[in-house]
Amino acid sequence: MDKLIQGGTLVLPAGPTPGDLLLRGEIIAQIGRDLPYDPQTTEIFPADGCYVFPGFIDTHTHFQLDNGVVVSPDDFASGSAAALLGGTTTILDFATQNRGETLAQGLDNWHAMADGKTHCDYGFHLAVTWWNPSIAREITSVAAAGVTSFKVYMAYDNLRLRDQEIFALLEKVGEVGGILGCHCENGDLINCLIQRLRLANRLGVDAHPLSRPPEVEAEAIYRYLTIAKMAGAPVNIVHLSTAAGLAVVEAARAQGQEVYVETCPQYLLLEQSRYSQPDFRGAVYVMSPPLRRAADQEALWRGLALGQVDTVGTDHCSFNLAGQKDLGREDFTKIPNGIPGAQHRPLLLYTYGVAAGRVGIGDMARLLAENPAKLFGLYPRKGALAPGGDGDAVIWDPRQTGVISAANQRHNVDNTPYEGMAVTGGPRQVFLRGQLVVADGRLVAERQGRYLARAASLRFRRGI
Ligand SMILES: [Zn+2]
Repeated sequence: MDKLIQGGTLVLPAGPTPGDLLLRGEIIAQIGRDLPYDPQTTEIFPADGCYVFPGFIDTHTHFQLDNGVVVSPDDFASGSAAALLGGTTTILDFATQNRGETLAQGLDNWHAMADGKTHCDYGFHLAVTWWNPSIAREITSVAAAGVTSFKVYMAYDNLRLRDQEIFALLEKVGEVGGILGCHCENGDLINCLIQRLRLANRLGVDAHPLSRPPEVEAEAIYRYLTIAKMAGAPVNIVHLSTAAGLAVVEAARAQGQEVYVETCPQYLLLEQSRYSQPDFRGAVYVMSPPLRRAADQEALWRGLALGQVDTVGTDHCSFNLAGQKDLGREDFTKIPNGIPGAQHRPLLLYTYGVAAGRVGIGDMARLLAENPAKLFGLYPRKGALAPGGDGDAVIWDPRQTGVISAANQRHNVDNTPYEGMAVTGGPRQVFLRGQLVVADGRLVAERQGRYLARAASLRFRRGI
């Protein structure tokens, strides 16, 4: 059966436009006003009063992440189910090479966790955690096989590369038309600050942000962009959290450098004061980078509206408070870092962005679908409502209301940093490659996710 989404406001790249969307097989067959259809072979989905978005893409998840002590409870099944229920039809997870492993082994490990279990479409970025000439050669082969985005860490002693290694990696990724994202925090300074806090016996949750102040991010961004400039490679800054960091990016762009920026809902919506909540509740918010101040949030919202920030990913990496986060009750450095978010990202951006007048409806589609698809080699197959593209679509009802809670989320975890926050709007139906997968808050088709081999990064920011 064809599926006709009828009478909604289509959020097209050119702007919101009233019209119908016809899905045939796995693709978008037609877009237009009052499309003709054969009632015998067409199922109708009325969308009056609703927006119709392209399926959203989460640029940043960590499902089933093993931090060496505990494993995050959201695996590819629960994580992707949560994503779909929120309107996200594609996730990009960070496959991470263990030290001593080839990149191919890292990818194999991630396929073993994801294949056959994932409810939405998925692809992998590859995090490079050690470096030698054989890894350099492998970048060429994995890019040819469809992994065109990579990540490097400047923090975490077991993950980070040295500056000269980042330089070589950047040259190589640039050569294959890929994009290298970076976790920009100065790991040496963090180690030093943690040591000082330890000596001062300040190991409560509220010390976490003191160990990773804004300067730690801004310095690492400046250094990363300097190395990238020398390497002549475009770069992505993942989970940007500070006004200071964004200012460094804007200064580099003014000099002609090609820099992309991702932020996350937590940095737009939650403040650093959360770490001072009583009874260890602050542990819910322990993530890196940490939550910041109101002025940082304002700078990031402004960055979204002005097009300075390109994508909004979740950095979904959930850990239970009971049995996992509480390992750090006496020492904040032992609290596993991360929060859930895959389900709630579109809801939060709609409620606190679009409905609050901070960003437009077209901005939401650009930030959550079009820009991610372009930057990560999925466009125009995904990322926009266009004939010939995958039939990934969300019928978004702006009249829905709700309250986010650990009690009603699909994430397989006992907490959410957005507990008690009121939300408006929500997906009434979600389609994945032409198939109805979510209807009225329930998953109606399981394990339909397909692995996505990706093309080279389609860069949409021009350097000089
Ligand atoms: Zn991350």
